Amino acid sequence: MTALAVLSVASEVFPLVKTGGLADVAGALPVALAAEDVVVRTLVPGYPPVLAALRDGEAVLEFSDLLGFPARIIAGEAAGLDILALDVPELYARAGNPYLDPTGNDWPDNPLRFAALARAAAEIGLSAWRGFVPDIVHAHDWQAGLAPVYLHYAGEARPGTVMTVHNLAFQGHAAPELLGRLALPPAAMAIEAVEYFGSIGFLKGGLALADRITTVSPTYAAEIQTPDGGMGLGGLLHARAASLSGIINGIDTTVWDPARDKLLAAPFFAARVGGRAANKQALQERLGLAPDPAGLLFGVVSRLSWQKGLDLLLETLPVLLASGAQLALLGSGDRVLEDGFRAAALAFPGRVACRVGYDERLAHLVQGGSDALLVPSRFEPCGLTQLCALRYGSVPVVARVGGLADTVIDANEMAIAAGVGTGLVFSPVTATALEAALRRAAELWRDQAAWRRVQANGMVTDVSWRRPARRYAQLYRELVAERASA
Ligand code: ADP
Repeated sequence: MTALAVLSVASEVFPLVKTGGLADVAGALPVALAAEDVVVRTLVPGYPPVLAALRDGEAVLEFSDLLGFPARIIAGEAAGLDILALDVPELYARAGNPYLDPTGNDWPDNPLRFAALARAAAEIGLSAWRGFVPDIVHAHDWQAGLAPVYLHYAGEARPGTVMTVHNLAFQGHAAPELLGRLALPPAAMAIEAVEYFGSIGFLKGGLALADRITTVSPTYAAEIQTPDGGMGLGGLLHARAASLSGIINGIDTTVWDPARDKLLAAPFFAARVGGRAANKQALQERLGLAPDPAGLLFGVVSRLSWQKGLDLLLETLPVLLASGAQLALLGSGDRVLEDGFRAAALAFPGRVACRVGYDERLAHLVQGGSDALLVPSRFEPCGLTQLCALRYGSVPVVARVGGLADTVIDANEMAIAAGVGTGLVFSPVTATALEAALRRAAELWRDQAAWRRVQANGMVTDVSWRRPARRYAQLYRELVAERASA
């Protein structure tokens, strides 16, 4: 097997810059692909923390005019990844969230910022730097969506292109007048290319013109082909079904390893699950919950947005509390939801705790200290928190959508009899169905032996990147072979 070279293009990569699951995937997949003989370099914008991590990096490529800006590519290693940072201070030397200005609005020049990223990816794809000539350019989400578009218009001697959708809700649109500014040819302003209801669609273009499309679970791959789940792109995705596949994400099992996790109060593993008790106690203490080793403690680690369905949890809190359970929530996002959970914590002190903010350390303690992790998402492309929960012995209680449906096996009676259930799965995504799931969880909790079996099944489930990496490698190789024989 010859080694394949892949340029991964993403706007976030863990641990350098992260707002969501995309960063986790961009940070972990390259490492797993190394075992498949796939050499990955990751192109990311040169945000301040990225450049800081590459202080010893080397400028390997310069552009005098990248969409109107002088730009450089700095190559270096950070966090075990081969990073190519696109250094354009005018576009990326901004502190804080990568997409939002200090008032919380999108930076007005986001189209230009991410078109520049895609443009640089295309140039590297076309051998601009002899030090790395990729066989495949793999674009992640709308920020990289124009990479397959630029490459499509670059002629036949180009690498293969893969477009991965991590969340179809974020599509990236720009005013049509920007077409020339983004160095897109007039022909691109067509329904077969980037045109999207009169504007320029970044993800739309990538989905229309990439050789292959992937998304992060088979169920989400099916959902996004429907009028409801397609979010305006369902028709296009359905038309491209033959080129579309779903590959479930893994998690980084070195970052998420309960036996070696320094962010836990006490490490534990499947055969010594009793070690979780110390983490539960620590979590209750840290969040001001009543010490209650015997009660059922639900955890949430989530962005607070409509997608995540946590308004339904607020609605069903009375049922959760009536069963004697507690809730520990870590999240940030919509003000209304933040205020809602703050108010609930005030109304039920010792029973409901809420930490508004982004806190990687606390996220680990919630996973290791809660008994069950709630993920009532209205849609969920893959979801990572339920995968961490499986590994950390927090029994996931999830909506039957997207990757949640593909990763959690409902512990119904037959599944329990067969010894295969790993969590509780409910549908439809309504307050009533969530209430029923909370009651089922309380019932299962009362049967501690059954609970432990479900928990143990989850903890030994392989949630690593091993299998997904093999699938990506296979997809890359098929695409390269297909292009070579064309
Ligand atoms: P999404 O990408 O839609 O936000 P995922 O479940 O795919 O959802 O990934 C979310 C990632 O972000 C997980 O690694 C999760 O642990 C982390 N996360 C989400 N919210 C927080 C938070 N408030 N504090 C710390 N980590 C968080």
